[in-house]
Amino acid sequence: MRGCIFCQIVRGDAPARLVHQDDEITAFHDANPQAPVHLLIVPNRHIEGVRDVTPGDAPALGRLFVVARQLAEAFDLLDGYRLVVNDGPAAGQSVPHLHVHLLGARSLSWPPG
Ligand code: AMP
Repeated sequence: MRGCIFCQIVRGDAPARLVHQDDEITAFHDANPQAPVHLLIVPNRHIEGVRDVTPGDAPALGRLFVVARQLAEAFDLLDGYRLVVNDGPAAGQSVPHLHVHLLGARSLSWPPG
């Protein structure tokens, strides 16, 4: 989608430190990291949020979790890490392109703010 920063990153039209890309999923370092490892994993297709997911998105979103697991291993996080999805403004979603935060390499308290 024109004007979506994550779509621009997926297309290679905006800079990002990519850590993974395939035909369904792209992952890159968060520009404002909240942990020593803070990655964003996104479907290449523009989906605004979980509220817009359709049954046809199931293969890509299943693949997203496979990529998350691979990245957790690649970044040596298998002792524990957190996956976060902020969905909608009340949850703090600031970029309207579905993304999963992968946070790790520090202790993570619960509940989140
Ligand atoms: P959320 O608040 O859940 O929508 O998360 C959006 C995340 O995207 C934030 O953690 C931002 O730091 C991150 N972010 C925004 N723009 C960029 C960008 N151009 N490259 C990398 N991360 C970004």
